[in-house]
Amino acid sequence: MKKFILAENDLPQQWYNILPDLPAPLPPYLNPVTHEPLRPEDLAPLLPQTVIEQEFSQERWIDIPEQVRDIYRMWRPSPLVRADRLEKALDTPAKIYFKYEGVSPAGSHKPNTAIPQVYYNAQEGVRRVTTETGAGQWGSALSFAGSLFGVAVTVYMVRASYHHKPYRRSLMHTWGAEVFPSPTERTQAGRDILAKDPDSPGSLGIAISEAVEDALAHDDTKFALGSAMNHVVLHQTVIGLEAKRQLELAGDYPDVVVGCVGGGSNFSGLVFPFMADRLSGERPETRFVAAEPTACPTLTRGAYTYDYPDTAGLGPLLPMRTVGHGFMPAPIHAGGLRFHGDAPTLCALHDQGYIEARAYDQNEVFAEAVRFARHEGFVMAPESSHALRGAVQEALAAKEAGQERTILFGLSGHGHFDLGAFDAYLAGQLEDYTIPQAQLDEALSQLPKIERI
Ligand SMILES: *Cc1c(COP(=O)(O)O)cnc(C)c1O
Repeated sequence: MKKFILAENDLPQQWYNILPDLPAPLPPYLNPVTHEPLRPEDLAPLLPQTVIEQEFSQERWIDIPEQVRDIYRMWRPSPLVRADRLEKALDTPAKIYFKYEGVSPAGSHKPNTAIPQVYYNAQEGVRRVTTETGAGQWGSALSFAGSLFGVAVTVYMVRASYHHKPYRRSLMHTWGAEVFPSPTERTQAGRDILAKDPDSPGSLGIAISEAVEDALAHDDTKFALGSAMNHVVLHQTVIGLEAKRQLELAGDYPDVVVGCVGGGSNFSGLVFPFMADRLSGERPETRFVAAEPTACPTLTRGAYTYDYPDTAGLGPLLPMRTVGHGFMPAPIHAGGLRFHGDAPTLCALHDQGYIEARAYDQNEVFAEAVRFARHEGFVMAPESSHALRGAVQEALAAKEAGQERTILFGLSGHGHFDLGAFDAYLAGQLEDYTIPQAQLDEALSQLPKIERI
């Protein structure tokens, strides 16, 4: 069989929360002002109550509300596909499966958390949510969710992408959101940046500061984050829970699971249900590989310490591996995955040796995406292509070793809005870019002075 499809009735009823199963308790988040452990009520101006409870919850299983499952059913369960044509092309004894999240209306895994986040806000009477977006995938997912629940959505979109990626902006407008190129004059955080650099191309960290400031300034408004925090990862576990059942149908279990990491939500969502089996000792041999760009090498070259999720330092201090909240990715980088930090749970498991990390240059990543398109048809997002690159390396290593190996990778989204970057790759115009150590040291020197974890 090629494709493993679950019935709508098999859609998971609960999300999986890894917090109670971590080998060591997660270091606490810290209040950005006092540096004391963050209390749930500190987040109340920003997030709805249910989301805050989920952020700190020690319950292993959390019910997915029926209204959320009903919307998930528009595209979920998503397919699990065996990439047998790619296997043949690689002449590998390995089996390669991918979990395809490009079937959602917004084209990526991001609606998996946008839907419940907006649902909980709507339940609590919130009228508007603000957010950041880079290339526009998160902004469009939230706009889609807002349109279904009648909640207004304001998106601060990284200026460089606002101008270079107009079609995701069109998508957000189609779903009824308002979209501003960040930095803007609308917030103090934006005005401060513009005063120093009127031509600032923006960054995710700046856009988060603006969205947070906007939410804090308005009583009827809250903020929604697209990655990194526990509740986002929790919602994304629907991916891995489905994939596990689909592999059961296939009579298989992965030896290695590979995902791409921006802030870590699709990776963790795919991986954590399998990680549960490794942590419980049921499947002690399973390996987990996180793929990131050399242009934003958080896991491979960052520091494991406390850092802000945003440039202005308004959000809680998170225990994570980071390249610094002031980090600005090189404009020539087309491969996405630009967030300066990663999910604290992912970082803790990486630090304890449960997750391997690899960084890839953008040309090797696009080459893999093109080969995949020519054998398997789907044109995937540059972000997802990092996971593919990791999966292909695993398949080639299996061939080298003359071993069977079952590989599962996360195909987090389609690439139909990234064709400009494919054009640049096909024309030989993409440059590989490894950030110089001096730039990294400079960004890390601006970390808040808090004892290492
Ligand atoms: C946003 C995005 C990512 C990176 O975000 P994570 O939180 O690390 O998952 C990866 N792939 C696609 C298609 C995305 O839209």
